[in-house]
Amino acid sequence: MNETSALRIAPLQGSVSAAEWQARVDLAACYRLCERYGMSDMIYTHITARVPDAPGQFLINPNGLLFSEMTASSLLKVNGEGEVLYRPDLPYGLHPAGFTIHSAIYRARPDAAAAMHTHTIAGMAVSALKCGLLPLTQTATRFYGRIAYHDFRGPERDPSERDLLAQSIGPLNYCILRNHGLLTLGASVSETFIAMWGLERACQAQLAAMACNTDLEMPSPAVVEKSCSMYAPGNSRTYGPLEWQGLLRMLDRTDPGFRD
Ligand SMILES: [Zn+2]
Repeated sequence: MNETSALRIAPLQGSVSAAEWQARVDLAACYRLCERYGMSDMIYTHITARVPDAPGQFLINPNGLLFSEMTASSLLKVNGEGEVLYRPDLPYGLHPAGFTIHSAIYRARPDAAAAMHTHTIAGMAVSALKCGLLPLTQTATRFYGRIAYHDFRGPERDPSERDLLAQSIGPLNYCILRNHGLLTLGASVSETFIAMWGLERACQAQLAAMACNTDLEMPSPAVVEKSCSMYAPGNSRTYGPLEWQGLLRMLDRTDPGFRD
């Protein structure tokens, strides 16, 4: 018996719409991948997905399950008022800061189907730098000019924080929560995860370069602009769906419990 089955969560497939089930499978996979790639903070951050056929509702982790334990059937379903519409038979509920951040996004951004927040060391470190993320690497130029910054006011437990966060993010899909961590959103779970993957690696590379105690080679503004524009929507493929199929194949080979 693996640790997931030890939790004895009732299977939901067939009890929810096909669209919701697919969102649950993708979101549970995203939690497992977040853990696998070293981006989890035990149970302290949240990844969410809108319920496709009930856009006022979204799926979020029950606060207490490890990311490596997440399954499609274990995810909470909540509405924009913070009411839990579905909760598995577990002694774990909705985390108030997780609800605040993610409900802010779904209220303000009808185009957002998913959102991911991390507290990685690299993300927290760059969030504490006045310079923020610099266009030092090809990967970082993908995000150049497309990152929102949101000032830290303490843990986001007050629903009034939602308007401030929405104002900071505006129409952007990537956000550095200053002195806190990283946040991405997108039109799918896959897009949101791959954005976080790139943002995380851009942060890691910047910190590694800045730690070398030697002058940094910054690409010229013209090169940054050219590279950045090549990543602009319409100029490149949508990052996420292609990568996602391979990531799911890997999970199916090595960690298939996310589909439970
Ligand atoms: Zn956080």
